[in-house]
Amino acid sequence: NIKCTNIRKSYGSVTVIEDLNLDIPDHEFVVFLGPSGCGKSTMLRMIAGLEEISGGTVEIGERDVTRLPPGARGVAMVFQSYALYPHMSVYDNIAFGLRRQKVAETEIAARVKQVSGLLGLEQLLERKPRNLSGGQQQRVAMARAMIKTPKLFLFDEPLSNLDAKLREKLRTEIRRIHLDLKTTTIFVTHDQLEAMTIADRIVLMKAGAIEQQGTPSEIFDRPATRFVADFIGSPA
Ligand code: ATP
Ligand code: MG
Repeated sequence: NIKCTNIRKSYGSVTVIEDLNLDIPDHEFVVFLGPSGCGKSTMLRMIAGLEEISGGTVEIGERDVTRLPPGARGVAMVFQSYALYPHMSVYDNIAFGLRRQKVAETEIAARVKQVSGLLGLEQLLERKPRNLSGGQQQRVAMARAMIKTPKLFLFDEPLSNLDAKLREKLRTEIRRIHLDLKTTTIFVTHDQLEAMTIADRIVLMKAGAIEQQGTPSEIFDRPATRFVADFIGSPA
């Protein structure tokens, strides 16, 4: 499981996350939902180890990772602003993580074939990132994260630059890959419909705190506050 205890984040005198507690069971697909600026990305980056934490602890699978660097946490993260290696081909971008782990090239080839198939990238493997569309680059970034079969997947609005049809397709793929690989997934979005379709559990945030959490139907049918009802679009 993933356990966050009394998480706090301040920038100077400004506190953006305040005493946040969260426990995510293994294999759950959790969506962090909330308005712009509520702290979704900050939470994700602290769990990944990309952001210094001002207070509290993060545990992944019973292990306190609060002071561990990102590479030692067994997580893979896909950002909204995907950064690919510009001088490398798509193939080499996707293979990068496995090469660093000294995996055999034959196995790497098999895994690249598998994930590029899942994401519709088979025809693009020899290209350089600059010769791809934004959506294609985003899928390469996803492939690069997925190939490592991490214990925990973190997605920060990975579909936001894509057209509606591709969004829906990739959403289904992400969900399926989550089930296939038996990982735990945290997916950030500010799109409530996307959250309703993809989540086992929604964690609805407001101004650096959890306003309500529950299954999509619990949140929709029994919003705890006016804010939740408005945000989710529950009938008044
Ligand atoms: P969005 O949906 O727009 O991506 P978010 O929920 O991901 O929003 P965060 O990026 O986590 O929001 O930001 C949370 C708060 O922290 C915001 O008020 C933001 O302005 C503030 N913040 C983020 N980074 C910094 C920083 N480096 N210095 C100061 N404040 C910051
Ligand atoms: Mg964000």
